[in-house]
Amino acid sequence: MQGQMMDYQLTITPLLERAQRLFPKKEIVTKAGPSLERYTYAQMVERVERLANALEKLGVRRGDRVATFAWNNSRHLEIYFAVPCMGAVLHPINLRLPGDQIAYIANHAEDKVIFVDPTLLPAIEKLAPHLKKVEHYVVMSDTVPDGTTLSPVHAYEDLLKGVNADHAWPSLSENDAAAMCYTSGTTGNPKGVVYSHRAIYLHSLGLSMTDSFGLSERDIFMPVVPMFHVLAWGTPFATVMLGTNLVFPGPHLQARDLAELIQAEKVTLTAGVPTLWMGILNLLENERYDLSSLRGMIVGGAAAPQSMIEAFEKKYGLNVMHAWGMTEMSPLGTVSRLKSYQMDLPEAEKFAIRAKQGTSVPGVEIRAIEESGREIPWDGKAFGELQVRGPWIISSYYNDERSADSFQDGWFRTGDVVTIDPEGFIQIVDRAKDVIKSGGEWISSQDLENAIMAHPKVLEAAVIAVAHPKWQERPLACVVPKPDFKDSLTKDEILEHLKSRFAKMYMPDDIVFIDAVPKTSVGKFDKKVLRVQFKDFKLPD
Ligand code: AMP
Repeated sequence: MQGQMMDYQLTITPLLERAQRLFPKKEIVTKAGPSLERYTYAQMVERVERLANALEKLGVRRGDRVATFAWNNSRHLEIYFAVPCMGAVLHPINLRLPGDQIAYIANHAEDKVIFVDPTLLPAIEKLAPHLKKVEHYVVMSDTVPDGTTLSPVHAYEDLLKGVNADHAWPSLSENDAAAMCYTSGTTGNPKGVVYSHRAIYLHSLGLSMTDSFGLSERDIFMPVVPMFHVLAWGTPFATVMLGTNLVFPGPHLQARDLAELIQAEKVTLTAGVPTLWMGILNLLENERYDLSSLRGMIVGGAAAPQSMIEAFEKKYGLNVMHAWGMTEMSPLGTVSRLKSYQMDLPEAEKFAIRAKQGTSVPGVEIRAIEESGREIPWDGKAFGELQVRGPWIISSYYNDERSADSFQDGWFRTGDVVTIDPEGFIQIVDRAKDVIKSGGEWISSQDLENAIMAHPKVLEAAVIAVAHPKWQERPLACVVPKPDFKDSLTKDEILEHLKSRFAKMYMPDDIVFIDAVPKTSVGKFDKKVLRVQFKDFKLPD
């Protein structure tokens, strides 16, 4: 016997149409220089329809890739909907990647049109001779700046003026490609990930579940995570589906800009990588902002240190929602949310749980496999590589022969080394390539980093493996003191702080002070750079 349900295709179009019908009055705000640009959902949807007409006129057809090279702003949101709803494929390009990788990505995806923020024109102009498949450039502004070398080039607003305001959306299949992103931080060329309409639809529901982030129409959401990093973690689709007010920071990502925006627009929920929140925490120590409108800060992309979660909550009453995911997973995987019966635990235990990466959300299955190939027990101790499966997780990379290595019996291999505790909370011990292999033991660089960053005089810390004649590898801690302690913080203070927390063999062999931890294109610690810098570092005997 079979279920007797409609064959209803899970595509993005009905999400947009819902917003058009139900939420025409809701607002979208973009920070543009000192001013804020504001318009309604009704205006947004009208422009989305015009844009689809304009793209059709430029020759964009179903399945064609349409790229963006842009910050988080309302025009970018319009492209986010016009492109997939017309059956083409949205491809936001990470604008912080080196030029050769951007060219690789645009050629590999065979982007036909590239939308570019006017401030980012010089980067694209330089690359244009290498972009083989691009047929049109669109500058996201009123006019095309004088003297641009791009050709053929159009102004976004001219394109919109030249067409009608309504568009008949085609009926699409839920398995059609809607969007694509490339991974960041890998060695070698980035790998392409293609998201289906179905994955984005289901993932949008996933973000709205009370036990994940409970994203709601009542929120005022500010995505700080760039729209080129896993589609701003899928949040633009979920927010429009729900009719949530949106606040886009544009290119203004300094802690002070963000705090001002949260305060002025009464943002209730926001999302971004930990380095960003560390910056805000540091700002709050010296300047006063009223951030009491915030009900949550979604932190992911790298581990949220426990000290940061605690400081936000205890000093400022702000709730960090720690989550883990990947480009390959749309990205939602786990959220660290206390179970009802964990709410009565002592405070210290609760913070320790929240610093873990959390339990898998409905829709995501997890297991971890140890070196022997066996599944690890959920005892919070055994280490294994995390594997996942679910409806918004990829089944292969896009046209990439490296694909085969990443899958095992229908599971996606994450490359993250984890423990899983009896309550099902995963804790990322390390990326497989960051873990320090000392003798027969594995040392978690992330544990050390988190402990060092809990020191009140430390701003950032990254721990890397350095070659050792006897132990193969030993940990070296690279530490950035807070500006006020730049000249006074000593190695001994840090070692003393770690001594009570780690057995001797897990302690760093040495500590070096650096000005800043290098960051990847999406703002995570880039330990590759440090490993090269300290390749020949001589550890003390
Ligand atoms: P990306 O595809 O750029 O989002 O990177 C995904 C990787 O970031 C994961 O495989 C993890 O190694 C890391 N990551 C994401 N979220 C977290 C987190 N909450 N804690 C630790 N690592 C994380």
